[in-house]
Amino acid sequence: VTNLAPYNTFKVEAFARDFIELSDLSSLSNLGNLENSLILGLGANILFTKNFESLVIKNNLKGKKVLKETDEEVLIEVASGENWHEFVMWSVENSWSGVENLALIPGTVGGAAVGNIGAYGQTVGEIIEKVKTDNGLGLTNQECQFSYRDSIFKRQLKNKAFITSVVFKLYKTAHFAADYYSRYESLRTYLPSHPTPQTVAEAVTKIRTAKLPDWKTLPTAGSVFKNPFVTKKHYEALAKEIKDLQMYPVDKMIYPRPGDPVFNTAEMVKIPAGRLLDELGWRGKRIGRVATYDKHALVVVNCGGASGQEIFDFVQQMRLSVKKAYAINLEPEIEII
Ligand SMILES: Cc1cc2nc3c(=O)[nH]c(=O)nc-3n(C[C@H](O)[C@H](O)[C@H](O)COP(=O)(O)OP(=O)(O)OC[C@H]3O[C@@H](n4cnc5c(N)ncnc54)[C@H](O)[C@@H]3O)c2cc1C
Repeated sequence: VTNLAPYNTFKVEAFARDFIELSDLSSLSNLGNLENSLILGLGANILFTKNFESLVIKNNLKGKKVLKETDEEVLIEVASGENWHEFVMWSVENSWSGVENLALIPGTVGGAAVGNIGAYGQTVGEIIEKVKTDNGLGLTNQECQFSYRDSIFKRQLKNKAFITSVVFKLYKTAHFAADYYSRYESLRTYLPSHPTPQTVAEAVTKIRTAKLPDWKTLPTAGSVFKNPFVTKKHYEALAKEIKDLQMYPVDKMIYPRPGDPVFNTAEMVKIPAGRLLDELGWRGKRIGRVATYDKHALVVVNCGGASGQEIFDFVQQMRLSVKKAYAINLEPEIEII
């Protein structure tokens, strides 16, 4: 048995019956059927509430190479075990654009594709060309079915495909939509008048450092819930109660799957779960060894020695409180095991 505490950013104890670290592709074929196994990146999106009675495969596959380069674009293949933030910094140092807003998100490249990570108006699904898996087949962007914090790897292919590498298409000219700067007020204030991928990544890093805990010193998995979608009518009612409640029209969200029925409805808006929790007094609230971060009510932290079950109970209380007050069912963003 192996204690998984060093392998999840909540730092909770849970024991895996079997555990291996995978650093070369050839060993992957020896593992056989992965159906009951857990593939682990950094464990930045997972809450263990119990022991794992099967095999945990910690992904350490490393390497990146430029596959193709033109005057406008560059295609890069990155091994799934590479650190996400290091990949972002490497890209912006090369002045390649497309990932700069996703700086400082903890995790691996494989984990980023699974969860279609997003921040400040950018999502990783927008720049993924292909995802390669252990069966040798690649999935095209379309086949990955990226949507809001979601992909086929969380659904039909869950525990059925080991992502070995991801092929990204990055741009040699600035590839950030100019208009979102006005929506993300906080980002704009940190930017020079002519932003580059590097200055955007620096601005994002500054804001995130100020707003979010460092999981290495204050264990956390970031936001515990997704931002909910509500009808415009519901939003208007809420906005009367909750000062400065923002909203984002769902049909304007930039996701590479515009056909997705969820995102096609002009009737729905996305609202910040953090603001709802704020209003209900959850920011900085502590129960036993679990709390929300004092600068962000959506971010749950382990104050030291909390078990996965204690964190889970805390998260359930948050959910219940929002449900009672606003009739909104918050959906977990973290994976609860
Ligand atoms: C402080 C903090 C801030 C955060 N901020 C953000 C944010 O702004 N935006 C955002 O979107 N997320 C954010 N997150 C969440 C987290 O960083 C992302 O979900 C990240 O992509 C998780 O990557 P990981 O490698 O740790 O995946 P893990 O947590 O290890 O795994 C997540 C899931 O992916 C599967 N998986 C992982 N690797 C593979 C693979 N190679 N093949 C197949 N399946 C695999 C796992 O089995 C699991 O189901 C934050 C987390 C923290 C701690």
